[in-house]
Amino acid sequence: MATLRFKAIQLAQNRKPVKVNEVKKRSEIFGENVFNENTMRQYLTSEAFKGVMSAIEHGKKIDRKIADQVSSSMKEWALSKGVTHYTHWFQPLTGATAEKHDAFFETIGNGMAVEKFGGSQLVQQEPDASSFPHGGIRNTFEARGYTAWDPTSPAFIYGTTLCIPTIFVSYTGEALDYKTPLLKALHAVDDAATAVCKYFDKNVKKVSSSLGWEQEYFLIDKALAGSRPDINLTGRTLLGHSPAKGQQLDDHYFGSIPTRAYNFMRDLENECMLLGIPAKTRHNEVAPNQFELAPIYEEANLAVDHNSLLMDVMGRVALRHDFKVLLHEKPFAGVNGSGKHNNWSLSTDTNVNLLGPGKTPMSNLQFLTFFINTIKAVHNNEELLRAAIASASNDHRLGANEAPPAIISVFIGEQLTNVLEELEGVTKGKLSPEEKTDLKLNVVGKIPDVLLDNTDRNRTSPFAFTGNKFEFRAVGSIANCANPMTVLNTIVAKQLKDFKVEVDALIDKKDLKKDEAIFNVLREYIKSVKNILFEGNGYGIEWEKEAKKRGLSNNKTTPEALKARISKKSIELFEEMGVMSRKETEARYEIEMEEYTKRIQIESRVLGDIAGNHVVPTAVRYQNMLIKNVSGLKEIFGKDFEEHAKEQIGLIKLISSHIEAIHIKIDAMIAARKKANKLTKIEEKAASYCTKVKPFLEEIRYHCDKLELMVDDELWPLTKYRELLFAR
Ligand code: ADP
Ligand code: MG
Repeated sequence: MATLRFKAIQLAQNRKPVKVNEVKKRSEIFGENVFNENTMRQYLTSEAFKGVMSAIEHGKKIDRKIADQVSSSMKEWALSKGVTHYTHWFQPLTGATAEKHDAFFETIGNGMAVEKFGGSQLVQQEPDASSFPHGGIRNTFEARGYTAWDPTSPAFIYGTTLCIPTIFVSYTGEALDYKTPLLKALHAVDDAATAVCKYFDKNVKKVSSSLGWEQEYFLIDKALAGSRPDINLTGRTLLGHSPAKGQQLDDHYFGSIPTRAYNFMRDLENECMLLGIPAKTRHNEVAPNQFELAPIYEEANLAVDHNSLLMDVMGRVALRHDFKVLLHEKPFAGVNGSGKHNNWSLSTDTNVNLLGPGKTPMSNLQFLTFFINTIKAVHNNEELLRAAIASASNDHRLGANEAPPAIISVFIGEQLTNVLEELEGVTKGKLSPEEKTDLKLNVVGKIPDVLLDNTDRNRTSPFAFTGNKFEFRAVGSIANCANPMTVLNTIVAKQLKDFKVEVDALIDKKDLKKDEAIFNVLREYIKSVKNILFEGNGYGIEWEKEAKKRGLSNNKTTPEALKARISKKSIELFEEMGVMSRKETEARYEIEMEEYTKRIQIESRVLGDIAGNHVVPTAVRYQNMLIKNVSGLKEIFGKDFEEHAKEQIGLIKLISSHIEAIHIKIDAMIAARKKANKLTKIEEKAASYCTKVKPFLEEIRYHCDKLELMVDDELWPLTKYRELLFAR
């Protein structure tokens, strides 16, 4: 019956905005619940403070004595804020965050108790790893895993729990989480970039990778979302006819934010402030009920943690406002999906953004070096980068003419294209004094002016240079940023490492000056990366054809895309850069392929249930009403009845044909699933789910959506798109 739907609509319509109290300035509460540098200064001995800071800045190990001091201060701080429990907070390969709370509370005999939190509890825990994805790494006889403190991401208080960011590794030392390889990739890019920086400034000792993500999401009334089994179980709608008014008018983008959503955002931003997440921007997105939150960028590891934390906090705050947050990349067909742009850059400990133009020709040559090396890294590893954003849900978005295509290309804008063209003409070997002057003054020297004008915005590019950073736009909204950030930083690290070898060789063997050698290597790079540069419309079919000619990959589905993860080249790359062993790379591949298979399997089961048990019975009920109507007409009009019942009879037949089609397709889908389930190789199984099971989702939906248009609205059990998307 449709009662659930109408109850939900009524609930949603009667909602009042939930009040939010903001008494303090944001800057005053920023980081209040974080054990950050400021808090550490207050609570730690100077010895312990120095120990932690050198761990953060130089990766120095923290010894037991210091860990004991830190834990005892953390406990003191946490207790002063009413905290009762602590947890190691980590990011297993499920995509969610994990925590297991332990109380500080301990009994000490004689009916007495104390609050305890020692260095050993801070530094390491041993959660049972058997229920987390491991891709065959963890054999059943050794179920233990370790979580180990990551001092580079500060502990924070959420609710009444002290959360300690940790890595999560198997008993045998392999990474079982997102953070471990990310930290290694960040270390690799630091090493490689610092070495290259020394060509330009001997004082540079560290290079950090920065990340500014932009989180898109939908807000749907809790009751409305709850009335849809597909949203509850898969995070998206598996059926539903598009509403008469969708986003055709584009009247939502940057429009005024509806009050309930606005209050949710303010509440969320308050939580962000307390947790030290520097939320900065909020606005409406293109689709109705779609919004975006973006923070000020941070060091990549911290930014990744903050995004993971935010996704969790969003869900909880939403409930307070009777909303459900949808982070899925494509919750509604025919309506724009959600992404998470990853703005990325590198900066030095001397405060120079390596992807921003400088004040002198030499600093601009440094800019060009990092700019061109990044392009080269993407050029050499486009397929791996595509794999880093592959998921069942993101497949709906990539190449759907609303988001960057599945083809990876780099957009740099007209002016920088011109700069590269000029640099291509640099003389091989030694440069004449005139050429040197010309290059420095007229090509490299002019870059800052060029970039000031660089307002080109090509929204269709998956990887675009936007003035002082690259923006990786193809990342999915529900994804953990660690995966794309691990790959991007690893490929750039590898590229910078190779670059340094080439430049040094020219300096040593060809006796070139440093800048001559750099110009020479960059010139060759510019020639070699042309295939990846694309300034046109990434949504067009022409680009697909052109990309094919250029030999770029166009892996449209996850099972195809993921193969690049375990190519010989990728495995060697991760090994060489010390980011992941072969075993770890292979395990991740297995986990992601399995995850893909499971997602499609679940969607297929849920749709089978909804179509068979909700849609068809409703259609039958309505059809019975029509049949009754026709027999009534027959009673009144006798043998002339058909003339008066033409429409009804037509509808009865049409409904039968859709019901029949749904039944046939559900049976065929189940048969396809059974066949796929028998396959033992993960590649074959995932491919079979992709090509044999998935197409039924669209086909069955088609008939259900047709029925939605025919059946009496009063009977329809599923909350409709127009109600999900427009009820506020
Ligand atoms: P949009 O892409 O929506 O036009 P902006 O380009 O202004 O928005 O910025 C988007 C994001 O880029 C913000 O989250 C910002 O913090 C981030 N950002 C700005 N500079 C950098 C940088 N050097 N490194 C990484 N992220 C950055
Ligand atoms: Mg952006």
